[in-house]
Amino acid sequence: MDAKVPYIDLAAQIRPIRAEVDAAIARAIDHTTFCLGPDVAEFEKNFAAYCGAKHCLAMNSGTSALHIAMRLLNVGPGDEVITTPYTFVATSWAISYVGARPVYVDIDEATFNLDPRLVERAITPRTKAVLPVHLYGHPFDVDSLAVICRKHNLPLVEDAAQAHGATYHGKVVGTFGDISCFSFYPAKNLGAFGEGGALVTNNDEFAARARSLREHGSRVRYHHDEVGYNYRMEGLQGAVLGVELKHLPAWIAARRRLAQRYHELLADTPLVLPREADYAQSAWHLYTVRHPRRDELKKHLDEHGVGNAIHYPLPLHLQKCYADLGYKAGDFPVAERACREVLCLPFFPALTEAHQQRVAEVVRQFFAR
Ligand SMILES: *Cc1c(COP(=O)(O)O)cnc(C)c1O
Repeated sequence: MDAKVPYIDLAAQIRPIRAEVDAAIARAIDHTTFCLGPDVAEFEKNFAAYCGAKHCLAMNSGTSALHIAMRLLNVGPGDEVITTPYTFVATSWAISYVGARPVYVDIDEATFNLDPRLVERAITPRTKAVLPVHLYGHPFDVDSLAVICRKHNLPLVEDAAQAHGATYHGKVVGTFGDISCFSFYPAKNLGAFGEGGALVTNNDEFAARARSLREHGSRVRYHHDEVGYNYRMEGLQGAVLGVELKHLPAWIAARRRLAQRYHELLADTPLVLPREADYAQSAWHLYTVRHPRRDELKKHLDEHGVGNAIHYPLPLHLQKCYADLGYKAGDFPVAERACREVLCLPFFPALTEAHQQRVAEVVRQFFAR
């Protein structure tokens, strides 16, 4: 067998829920509330409950939610926010959008997440917040970071864009920070049929102000208290996400089973496999292996029709857009090595056992050459 294995197959994920989604979209068209509206409000209520949080504010993207989080904390020019160089760039955009400076701290080799042991020495009088990411769906070391944040009176913001449903000591992520931000980009564990995101918090004042900021800084129509944004979620996305949220626990369970099967199928290869820390149940957004010969392995998978992707090839401190921050190669060696060594294998809830066996076979072929 040498069938192709797709990296991701959204069609296979949507097919079983198609009728349900079609009906929800039809209802949304009938009531014509295309910006926010009842479907979005219902989704917000249910997603807040899913996270065990008091409030959820649905937005037009995860990036927007992160931007609003920085506004809620009054982060601005001259301020610093401690964050990870090894993530999707949007984590840092939020800091840049408000004119503040991302201050990077290297990651932990085992989880690819911000290394709490390095955070404290990066704190300065200008530090206004700490913004770690639950990367690949694996929770960061919440308690270690929370202790440092409390000691220095710094708010903690979770970038949970990849981690819907991940748990830390048995509790789902989304309320460990003062604010948590999610993305519903289509390829995320919970994906809209377009763009989407959410800000989750237990803080009533943050929730009220976020509600205003996402809607042009107004609480009363045509009265604008502060400069805001058009960051509303579309009604149709709320309808789709409302349906999908019911299926999310089953999708995460599937992801966990698939990860387990990859662990077994790849155990006897030279690949370094992703492992959960003892405090974590990963939501397995991605299955990321590593090996020093990553580029050759990638070429081999490409040639044999096995989908794959590199999340991420270049750390943020070495991006052209951040050249003016003054970082240089070698500043964050763990993140930089990860960028050279990681490879994400095909991973989505509808991945079959045959697919996974094929992936393992092609990987084994590579190391047998
Ligand atoms: C996807 C993602 C974002 C941005 O979300 P969008 O909805 O695409 O704007 C932010 N942070 C991380 C870690 C992400 O993976």
